[in-house]
Amino acid sequence: MAKIISGKEVSAAVREQIRKECDELKAKGIAPGLAVIIVGDDPASRVYVNNKKKACADVGFVSEEYALGADTTQEELLGLIRELNNKKEINGILCQLPLPAHLDEKAVINAISPLKDVDAFHPSNVGGIMIGDYNFLPCTPAGVMEMLHSENIDITGKNCVVIGRSNIVGKPMAMLMLHENATVTICHSRTQDLKGICSKADVLVAAVGRPKFVTADMVKEGAVVLDVGINRDENGKLCGDVDFESVEPKASYITPVPGGVGPMTIAMLMKNTLKAAKIQNDIR
Ligand code: NDP
Repeated sequence: MAKIISGKEVSAAVREQIRKECDELKAKGIAPGLAVIIVGDDPASRVYVNNKKKACADVGFVSEEYALGADTTQEELLGLIRELNNKKEINGILCQLPLPAHLDEKAVINAISPLKDVDAFHPSNVGGIMIGDYNFLPCTPAGVMEMLHSENIDITGKNCVVIGRSNIVGKPMAMLMLHENATVTICHSRTQDLKGICSKADVLVAAVGRPKFVTADMVKEGAVVLDVGINRDENGKLCGDVDFESVEPKASYITPVPGGVGPMTIAMLMKNTLKAAKIQNDIR
């Protein structure tokens, strides 16, 4: 029987701390501000953007939404980012991905000022994470680490396996675990003997994007299992990359979906925005 690490509870504690620090900044005349850009009408993106705006209101940040039509040109989008890079009231800029196919995601990420890049997607921030010298942590992997910390789970010397090597989740996840002295293996679609590798993991992170992909036979008895996936099962119900029903009895700790890594990601975005506001106002 695993202990369930609730992202709802851990993120509430993180947000509470941010709220306190936000109040302190406001007392100094500084109101942290996040600009959220959404292009087109992807329903999932709309849900994510609404949740981020709600989280801003909850911790006391100002949020500005820039909802652009699906036919927005690259130049128009880059123009808006340039404007926001220079806007004093805005400390963080987030452009909700994915973008419509005619827009160049890489150019958009590169255009956001690294000091306002609260998603930590800009190459200079990604490089900073690689060498362990950074302002902003990537939100989803940082959220996973926060969940481990909340239970005082020490990964030093542990065998940590990450399934997935995306730039947004898998790769930075592995790097954060390495920074905490884990021995890390990254698996992907070309990995041979995935089951054999996963079943030796003390800590298993699933960031695959396939519903209930991780089954009990892939999990070591007593492993810590962290589920990043957000998918729909065959009945359209929200589920993770881990087959919770079969894995939970074998794990020592497990994160649920929903209510796991998802709320942590947003809390970490708030943490980065607070940090951006401090940096831009020379408060360390
Ligand atoms: P990507 O699709 O970018 O990456 C998926 C990774 O899984 C790839 O590296 C891919 O390998 C690997 N993979 C796919 N199939 C297999 C397989 N059969 N065996 C082994 N590895 C495989 O997804 P993301 O990293 O962006 O997201 C992963 C999941 O996390 C999604 O469900 C997404 O919705 C969710 N997510 C959740 C967030 C949250 O806040 N909770 C935030 C971000 C994402 P390869 O590189 O070889 O193709």
